[in-house]
Amino acid sequence: MNDSFQNVLFQLERATKLVSFSPDFLKRIAQPNRQIRVSLPIKMDNGMLNVYEGYRVQFNNARGPYKGGIRYHQETDIEEVKALAFLMTLKCAVVNIPMGGGKGGIMVNPKELSKTELERLSRTWMQTLVDVVGPHKDIPAPDMNTTPEIMAWMADEYAKVTGDTTGAVITGKPLEFGGSQGRATATAQGGFYVFEALQEKLGLPEVCRVVIQGFGNAGEHAADIWTKAGHKLIATSDSRAAIRNPEGLDVLALSEHKKTTGSVAGFAGGETFERDELLYQNCDVLIPAALENQIREDNVDRLQSHVVFELANGPTTPEADDQLFARGVSVVPDILANAGGVTVSTFEWEQNLKKEHWSEEEVFAKLKTIMNQESELIFERAQSLQTDLRRAAFVIALERLQQAMKR
Ligand code: GLU
Repeated sequence: MNDSFQNVLFQLERATKLVSFSPDFLKRIAQPNRQIRVSLPIKMDNGMLNVYEGYRVQFNNARGPYKGGIRYHQETDIEEVKALAFLMTLKCAVVNIPMGGGKGGIMVNPKELSKTELERLSRTWMQTLVDVVGPHKDIPAPDMNTTPEIMAWMADEYAKVTGDTTGAVITGKPLEFGGSQGRATATAQGGFYVFEALQEKLGLPEVCRVVIQGFGNAGEHAADIWTKAGHKLIATSDSRAAIRNPEGLDVLALSEHKKTTGSVAGFAGGETFERDELLYQNCDVLIPAALENQIREDNVDRLQSHVVFELANGPTTPEADDQLFARGVSVVPDILANAGGVTVSTFEWEQNLKKEHWSEEEVFAKLKTIMNQESELIFERAQSLQTDLRRAAFVIALERLQQAMKR
């Protein structure tokens, strides 16, 4: 059984020990408003029928419509989606955008499907859930293994069924289908603004040695942004291999290599090493940008990083978190570190509703203001409560949610 939801509840409980909240609020916030599980029958290219399981969890909408991505993964399930929907609720409150929290998914390995099968599956998800989503109800977006193209299929399906062509039902669309400038790199870019705001405060050197777990959407963009700012990427990995170079990897060349071969494996500009060793490289900043539950009680001792910067959702378990805090390793929590994605999603939604197009500079300027402001607020709160950044972020999010739920 997936224990991600228990982990979030546990984190919540620890944060609520520091500041008192109304017991009724705490009872309500710990449960999703609605959990939907559907069957998605798809005709495969060979004429066979496969039935996939799809999800949407609408966790909380006190601060705005439900908001959150849809994940395609063979190991996802309703428990994981529920945990991620809870994190979205907190994340949107942390960056103070007018959105609630939700998440969706399909239990499928998208790599085993042809493009036409993937399109049918994505359209069927939208058809099946068309009544529960909507620009003022619930606004899905990309997440693990879901792309702008998939968002375009879903937006098109929604428009076909409902006649609403604003595109505001879904974010992370390609630019030509009403997407926003900057959305593709927003998670990494937002993360970098958080990093910049906290770099000195966390005692990090001017030039940091960075390790990124997961050279995927968020990780690859992060590698590009961090190294362009003068930091060094000394190791990274994907689902097949890990690669390192103490002098710094050439990110552009590595991206090229990945584009042609599909993986970082065999990259000539570095040494290939055991994937499992990636997390234990000596570095200033470790950026998990892949799956949940990577840093755990059983491996946390081996970490040799000054700061853990969570670009992935839920990469650190609560037990590992406690040990890192005790060792003086700062963890910049997911609900702050990767909130740039949903923030620019909200900009996309706003542009669709107002029929506007903002430039990339405008998008990033707005994003930077939000990420700087909320990072500083969380840092100050952590200092005044003498706690870690995660608990401080939870406290701020919960205060905002409690306020909204009083209405
Ligand atoms: N899937 C992303 C996240 O976990 C983005 C969600 C969104 O843009 O709505 O934050």
